[in-house]
Amino acid sequence: MANLILILGDQLSHHLSALEGADPATDRIVMAEVHDEASYTNHHKKKLVLVFSAMRHFARELTGKGWQVAYYRYDPDSPHKDLLSVVQEQVLSLSPDKLVITECGEWRLDNQIRKWFDALGVPVEIRPDSRFIAGKAVFARWAEGRKQLRMEFFYREMRRKTGLLMTPGDEPEGGHWNYDADNRRKWKGQPPAPAPFRVEPDDITREVITLVDGHFRDHFGTTDDFHFAVTADRAREALDHFIDFALPCFGDYQDAMADQEDWLFHAILSPYLNCGLLDPMEVCEAAERAWYAGQAPLNAVEGFIRQIIGWREFVRGIYWLKMPEYASENRLDNDRSLPWFYWSGETGMHCLHRTIDSTRRNGYAHHIQRLMVTGNFALLAGIKPEDICDWYLAVYADAYDWVELPNTLGMVMHADGGYLGSKPYAASGKYIHRMSDYCGQCRYNVNHTSEEDACPFNALYWHFLDRHKDDFSRNPRMVMMYRNWQRQDPDHRNATLERANWLLDHLDEL
Ligand SMILES: Cc1cc2nc3c(=O)[nH]c(=O)nc-3n(C[C@H](O)[C@H](O)[C@H](O)COP(=O)(O)OP(=O)(O)OC[C@H]3O[C@@H](n4cnc5c(N)ncnc54)[C@H](O)[C@@H]3O)c2cc1C
Ligand code: SF4
Repeated sequence: MANLILILGDQLSHHLSALEGADPATDRIVMAEVHDEASYTNHHKKKLVLVFSAMRHFARELTGKGWQVAYYRYDPDSPHKDLLSVVQEQVLSLSPDKLVITECGEWRLDNQIRKWFDALGVPVEIRPDSRFIAGKAVFARWAEGRKQLRMEFFYREMRRKTGLLMTPGDEPEGGHWNYDADNRRKWKGQPPAPAPFRVEPDDITREVITLVDGHFRDHFGTTDDFHFAVTADRAREALDHFIDFALPCFGDYQDAMADQEDWLFHAILSPYLNCGLLDPMEVCEAAERAWYAGQAPLNAVEGFIRQIIGWREFVRGIYWLKMPEYASENRLDNDRSLPWFYWSGETGMHCLHRTIDSTRRNGYAHHIQRLMVTGNFALLAGIKPEDICDWYLAVYADAYDWVELPNTLGMVMHADGGYLGSKPYAASGKYIHRMSDYCGQCRYNVNHTSEEDACPFNALYWHFLDRHKDDFSRNPRMVMMYRNWQRQDPDHRNATLERANWLLDHLDEL
């Protein structure tokens, strides 16, 4: 036998680097649903169904192409609790020349695999993950010598590198790099948001649903109404659905939130991109084609492509540049525990209730809900970064440490001291009111700050600014906020701070 190739649950791509040059006649593939990977966090039940079912479908496709695949199904009584033990068994029985693997996405597992040689006694070849546009070394070179890293400049490099939305003269299409200023409309029910793409579960998925309901009962969320794609073909249909029905309005309503619409005009493609069913370049090229064909406006297409070749690549670059120290950053010295309502959804704050409820049902909430509702509240309330990071890692179907951690710890919590973002995304209830219709359904009054019925975001916002004045009052992007705070009547300021202190002492009751 030649090589043993290990394929992980987020590496379900036929063009994976570990498969390059491999020979189905001699090489053997191993895939495994193991306890340690399924349980290192309280993964949403829908994420477990998606990953296990997609793995089983992928293994079937590989077998159909002539590969020999040793597939270990999840078994709670299996002696193989972790990947090393599975690989050890395969190495013992097959005596391969070496183990080949594509570098894994998470530092935790990557760190383990880099030590496997001693345990296995055969060489371990770890290949770069070519599914990303900027390799780790490319990002590190770009970051070298820069005091602060800004996504916008990195994004322009990625535009040039990929040629996406670039003219033959190497200028950005339309004359601007970024059309974000056009992407801030409130959605008032028109145009109607498209129904999300759905795939009805087949036999394999139904079997996995039963398994997850049986063995992962205590995990967050529900398997009810599971309708994610679990194969690359179906994920491509989901991409087509997005391009045809949602992309034209993606830009305009990118920052909008709506009480009765879980998905609005978002792509809902991150679960597929992150487990390998879709390739980032194919997704961006499909969006670019829609613009050239006149099917979607530039603000939508540029905004969408920026999320993928800009933000997605940028946060991955930061993750690998800064781990493992990054995970324990807490520059704002937060020490409060996560309120229980993040898990139960039981809170009178309607925006939080709805966001957590959709998270529980769907394993999904769109970016602005994650950033400006659940994230903003955790920032204002001074929640410990590790608590809120654990929550985000558990509750979303697209959650993987490399993308969740920089978004939560850096973008939302500003716990890295501004490495990822130049200012915290702190906002009062006014922002949520402007971008959604949540406040009309809420027991709190968004126009009040210190009264008993006042929206908690309001007093907490001013308290956040006040308690972090040494950190932020000289930040040029926050000077205006501090000026507004200083201009307020001292009695009013005291009443606001008093209300905030009460709120902070009673977070679980809000
Ligand atoms: C606190 C917090 C935690 C997050 N955790 C995750 C996570 O675990 N996994 C994850 O994939 N995304 C995460 N994001 C980013 C973003 O919210 C999701 O990628 C997006 O909501 C996925 O839904 P969509 O496919 O409908 O995205 P769309 O809004 O339609 O965007 C299109 C695509 O762009 C990419 N993208 C957009 N924003 C980001 C971003 N900030 N970082 C990386 N990629 C981005 C995604 O691949 C997404 O599919 C997080 C954001 C925040 C604020
Ligand atoms: S009033 Fe405040 S808590 Fe209620 S929905 Fe609006 S922003 Fe959220």
